[in-house]
Amino acid sequence: MGLLRSAGMEPASDRDSADVVFINTCAFIADSAQESVDTILEFARDRRDGRIGALVVAGCLAQRYGSSLMEEIPEIDALIGTGDCGRCVEAVQAALRGERPVFIGAPGFLAQEGGPRVIATPKHLAYLKIAEGCANRCSYCLIPSLRGPARSRPVEAIVREARSLASSGVRELVVIAQDTTAYGCDLYGRPSLARLLRELAEAAADGIEWIRVMYTYPSLIDDELIDVFAGEERIVKYLDIPMQHGSDRVLKMMSRRSSRAQMIQVCGRLRERVPGLVLRTSLIVGFPGETDEDFEELLSFIDIVRPERAGVFEFSAEEGTRAYDMPGQVPSEVAAGRRGIAMEALARISREFGESRVGSVTRVLVDGPSDESDLVVEARSYAEAPEVDGKVYIGDATLAAGEMVDVAITDAGRYDLAADRI
Ligand code: SF4
Repeated sequence: MGLLRSAGMEPASDRDSADVVFINTCAFIADSAQESVDTILEFARDRRDGRIGALVVAGCLAQRYGSSLMEEIPEIDALIGTGDCGRCVEAVQAALRGERPVFIGAPGFLAQEGGPRVIATPKHLAYLKIAEGCANRCSYCLIPSLRGPARSRPVEAIVREARSLASSGVRELVVIAQDTTAYGCDLYGRPSLARLLRELAEAAADGIEWIRVMYTYPSLIDDELIDVFAGEERIVKYLDIPMQHGSDRVLKMMSRRSSRAQMIQVCGRLRERVPGLVLRTSLIVGFPGETDEDFEELLSFIDIVRPERAGVFEFSAEEGTRAYDMPGQVPSEVAAGRRGIAMEALARISREFGESRVGSVTRVLVDGPSDESDLVVEARSYAEAPEVDGKVYIGDATLAAGEMVDVAITDAGRYDLAADRI
């Protein structure tokens, strides 16, 4: 968006006034690829009818399927792979001239310092990408082939970007990468997330209140990193650790490096050292070869770790991964049933956590008016990450997006909370 804008293109305020439609796609599992294709088809009609001058498709779907996508959907004018987003202006201009550019090379893009950026999130919130790609080879995952090998941005460049985001009014920074704990291995020869977070926390003194860390790998959470969570006030006491399963047999087939016992131990250490810590995880059910006993192990793992936040996904067999044709594929009805049971157990934990907070006072960041009612605003505390977790609803419409206030929690649902301003 930054590159397009600096070339003189402005985001259209609505669909009817757009000259070009630019679709950035996801394609790491079948559902996300389908969603991307549905979105392209939705705009293909506008392109056929001449209501738009060009339909440009960028990102993982383009990287995954290449020019066959253009053959299948001839309304597409340009394709840009994950490594070529730096060529988006060239692609749009060529498409508008009637050419059909296909820019799909190796997936090696890494944001450069000082590159123009447009924040697509509300003004008070920004995602901060610290690295691209992934060096892990989980047997079910296409991401390393779509996004390339792990490569980190220098600490100084990230800190400067955080400072500039702070000066533009950002109050919550969400630190992301495919694997944030692998940050720095390529550049500094060792995992360096702890060092980066310390420097970000220092720089945050200029206005950023919360620094939230997503997508960590359990085997890389060491004492140095735990110390940062325990000691740095601005590092939110919330940690996302995708753990994927609770049975060693399945974890091994997934090529995960952490065992059940190691994950239980690291979560225990975190909870002991960081009081009030909220854990988020993601889990996969229906992996090839997963038996009823494995699934029972997963349920007992959930019971022990008690993640307050979680997502459960049914295994999706992706061509190009090792798990694609592993023996023992689990029927989708069985996977769906297991997902329902696991989600139910996790929802209970989330509700119990919410109920334990009723009557307590917490600080929240207001996201803005609620779709539910004009009298209510939506906010989040440290325990709710944007987009993936629940919300805190406050009955005070005078609160503006970006404000931070203390509230008393009055009620808890499965995922959401109600609160009064104090
Ligand atoms: S760590 Fe995450 S992104 Fe990397 S291969 Fe495993 S599941 Fe995929």
